[in-house]
Amino acid sequence: MLRQVLLGVSRSSKIKQAVTAVPVSSGIVSRFVAGETHLVSDGLNVTIDRLGEDTTNPDEAKATADAYLELLDRLADAGLTANAEVSVKLSAVGQALPGDGEKIALDNARTICRAARNAGTTVTLDMEDHTTTDSTLEILRELRQDFPETGAVLQAYLRRTEADCRDLAHAGSRVRLCKGAYKEPESVAFQPKLDVDKSYVRCLKVLMKGSGYPMVASHDPQLIAIAGSLADRYGREQGTFEYQMLYGVRPDEQLRLSREGNTMRVYVPYGQDWYGYLVRRMAEKPANLQFFLRSLISKK
Ligand SMILES: Cc1cc2nc3c(=O)[nH]c(=O)nc-3n(C[C@H](O)[C@H](O)[C@H](O)COP(=O)(O)OP(=O)(O)OC[C@H]3O[C@@H](n4cnc5c(N)ncnc54)[C@H](O)[C@@H]3O)c2cc1C
Repeated sequence: MLRQVLLGVSRSSKIKQAVTAVPVSSGIVSRFVAGETHLVSDGLNVTIDRLGEDTTNPDEAKATADAYLELLDRLADAGLTANAEVSVKLSAVGQALPGDGEKIALDNARTICRAARNAGTTVTLDMEDHTTTDSTLEILRELRQDFPETGAVLQAYLRRTEADCRDLAHAGSRVRLCKGAYKEPESVAFQPKLDVDKSYVRCLKVLMKGSGYPMVASHDPQLIAIAGSLADRYGREQGTFEYQMLYGVRPDEQLRLSREGNTMRVYVPYGQDWYGYLVRRMAEKPANLQFFLRSLISKK
């Protein structure tokens, strides 16, 4: 219920204006959002997301792509590209613009993929709400013609996802499986947590059994245990799949998985445009909301 309400208000521009006007620079924001190029050491890998979504004009879309190019340059200069890739939201590089938005997003994403390839790393295309799934998978297909290493994201809460997993479980295909973070109607998405979890397991089976590279993006202890068992069952060696978690969530578990020899990648958002990201995190865990409210009150 709280999740639905929060995901609903996250789209309201008035609420966004009111909330982002409050100077919240510490507490929950810094817990989940790295202000600058903050990289995780201790043997963890990272995927870096420049915060921002729903770009409203082509110049902004281009500026986002340019920011990724600069980030990739910096990563290369710092010798970090073996362990650091980038995550890109197509809506931040123009997908939702009227008219030729999809083409603008494809061109910008292609530029980022080329820069990532030159820097020795990869791009993963984040998945947004279900109205963008077909378009995102089509752009992925185009990008993979030149950059087959480009990662996909599939969301277990969508009823279509098991079939999408079958399509994408081929050799060389990097697929991040997450539960899904948007408010979606019953017609396209499972609603009860149990149904989403069951779908996650069915999808994970397809990916682990297939010949691609599954990326298990979840903090759920049960699903992480199941992922390990499925990897054993299908004879997957460490290094043929990876775990992923968000920066700031279950950091001890991130280290534990890494120390056991697993590839563990942390999703690190950076930048100023933190609102949409943070609201989705609060919708996932009410304790995060209490923490956020406390940090607002303590600012006054
Ligand atoms: C690397 C990564 C990339 C992602 N990319 C996308 C994307 O492109 N598109 C998209 O829609 N979504 C994305 N997500 C978000 C995802 O869809 C979920 O909304 C989010 O991961 C929460 O789901 P969960 O699997 O952790 O399980 P939940 O059902 O939220 O939680 C299950 C259990 O995990 C544990 N847990 C969860 N959160 C916490 C916490 N804060 N502290 C302690 N324990 C906790 C608890 O035991 C909880 O009961 C991504 C998530 C990750 C990790």
